[in-house]
Amino acid sequence: MNDSRPGRVLFSAEAIHRRVSELGEQIRGDYAGRPLTIVAILKGSVIFLADLARHLGHGVTIELIEASSYGDGTTSSGQVAIRRYGKLDVQGRDAILLDDIADTGNTLTAVRRSLEGMGARSVRTCVLLDKPCRRQVDLVVDYFGFEVGDDFVVGYGLDYDDYYRNLPDICTLRPEVVGVRA
Ligand code: 5GP
Ligand code: MG
Repeated sequence: MNDSRPGRVLFSAEAIHRRVSELGEQIRGDYAGRPLTIVAILKGSVIFLADLARHLGHGVTIELIEASSYGDGTTSSGQVAIRRYGKLDVQGRDAILLDDIADTGNTLTAVRRSLEGMGARSVRTCVLLDKPCRRQVDLVVDYFGFEVGDDFVVGYGLDYDDYYRNLPDICTLRPEVVGVRA
C-alpha cells in the first residue's frame, strides 16, 4: 500500500473519518431536523458525500450534479456548465452544496448562483478541503474539513487524471507521478 501511494500523506483515513464525523454533527445541529437537500458535485465529492450523509439524520435528500468549468486546463474559469441527474428539486428548500475542494472558488460560486436561481430557500457550501490561497472570487465556505496550502492533492474522491479517487488517505503527488498513469 505504501509503495502505491502517490506522495506524502497529508490527511490519513483516520483523521478524515474523525473530521467528517465532527462536520456531520455540526451540520445536523445547525439544521436541527429541518428538511435539507445535499447537492453533491460529481465526481470529486462522492466519497465525502457517502461518509458525511450518514451523520445527517432524517429529512435529508440527495441530488447529484456535474459541473464542468471552461478554464485553460490548469485552472477553472467563472463559466460553469451544470448537468443534472434527475429533477434537482431545490425549490423552497435549504440546500448544502457539497464538493471535494474549494480552489479558485469559481465552481461553487457559479453553482450556488444557479441553485439560488432555482428558488432554493438557502444555500450553504461545504467542502472537505479549502485552499484559500488560490481563491479568485469572494466565496463564503460555510463548512470545511481541513485547510490546505498550494499543493495538488489526491485521494478520498480527489483525482489526478481520474485516478486515485479511491485512496482512503489524502496525499500530495510526487513530481515523478505527474504525467504517468496510476
Ligand atoms: P474551483 O472552481 O474552486 O477552482 O475548482 C474546484 C475543482 O477543481 C474541484 O472540484 C476539483 O475537481 C479541482 N481541484 C482543485 N484543486 C484540486 C486539487 O488539489 N486536487 C484535485 N485532485 N483537484 C483539485
Ligand atoms: Mg472536481
